Amino acid sequence: MLIVMAVGATREQVAAVTAHIEALGLKGHPIPGAQRVAIGITGNTGVIEPALFESLPGVLEVIPVSHPYKLVSREVKPEDSVVSVGGVKIGGGHFAVIAGPCSVENTDQALVAARAVRAAGAHILRGGAFKPRTSPYSFQGLGKAGLAILRDVGRETGMPVVSEALDHESLEQVVETCDMIQVGARNMQNYSLLRTCGRTRKPVLLKRGMSATVEELLMAAEYVLSEGNYNVVLCERGIRTFADHTRNTLDLAAVVAVQRLSHLPIIVDPSHGTGKRHKVIPMGRAAAAAGADGLMIEVHHDPTHALSDAAQQVLPEELAQLMHQLPVLLPLTGRHLSERQ
Ligand code: PEP
Ligand code: MN
Repeated sequence: MLIVMAVGATREQVAAVTAHIEALGLKGHPIPGAQRVAIGITGNTGVIEPALFESLPGVLEVIPVSHPYKLVSREVKPEDSVVSVGGVKIGGGHFAVIAGPCSVENTDQALVAARAVRAAGAHILRGGAFKPRTSPYSFQGLGKAGLAILRDVGRETGMPVVSEALDHESLEQVVETCDMIQVGARNMQNYSLLRTCGRTRKPVLLKRGMSATVEELLMAAEYVLSEGNYNVVLCERGIRTFADHTRNTLDLAAVVAVQRLSHLPIIVDPSHGTGKRHKVIPMGRAAAAAGADGLMIEVHHDPTHALSDAAQQVLPEELAQLMHQLPVLLPLTGRHLSERQ
């Protein structure tokens, strides 16, 4: 259910409607728009009677939301959302590039990577400290020490940082040290983790599960928003198919599908999406041409010796080349490179 307030409805009227919603044991989510405020209602298990709200002062109309996801839907908020990560804007025309190594391996490697991606023009530094590896015997990441390195090299090079939280314990540490929480493909449907992310106010980078539909991705984001955290950026990172020429099949049509259904920004990760170094930059260009709101690219100065995802990390000069090409592509979809911090 969505309550649309009249143009010019006062702050007090919005507060009174929200209080009325909460008095009924439901949750009200005021969503400011360019023209007017809308208030999404969640927490109901059955149908809500529109008459309960229609005659409240300032209410223009009460409309049912037809999708199972509510707060993430364009029905509820027609304008694109803009998520700010340490001052870097993503969405609403702002295109941001997140780059850095798959894993933080040591201070030197992280610093070389951070300086290189900064020099190439990237906006946000990535680096995994808690790694979701297929084998328990593979490098698992440096954990808390890795987050501290990432934070320090991010500060030194002037970039906000993002890292993955694998569980509640690592989430607490990521919230303390990073500007954005990454929820990985394997955790996209970890509803308890999503709810906890929703109780923070940190931007969340939510990656699509490897066999998740677009609707499941949006429902996962809904968990975060339903707890009051509206700072969610979605990420297409490839799905499992029968094809074996790439590690995953990068589903660029999902970008277009999501943008029709949701106001949330969606970025693309062609590194995990292809798994092969020579395919990453071309698919990054394709994502920009398709209208994505940003990219996440894994970069390593010596990819073949990387401790994780050695086959897909690109060299800094490859990222730099892409960064030069983006200003040619972005105007095609009404986008521009985000301002750097
Ligand atoms: C990653 O970005 O480091 C990662 C593990 O990605 P995904 O969750 O998409 O596999
Ligand atoms: Mn990786």
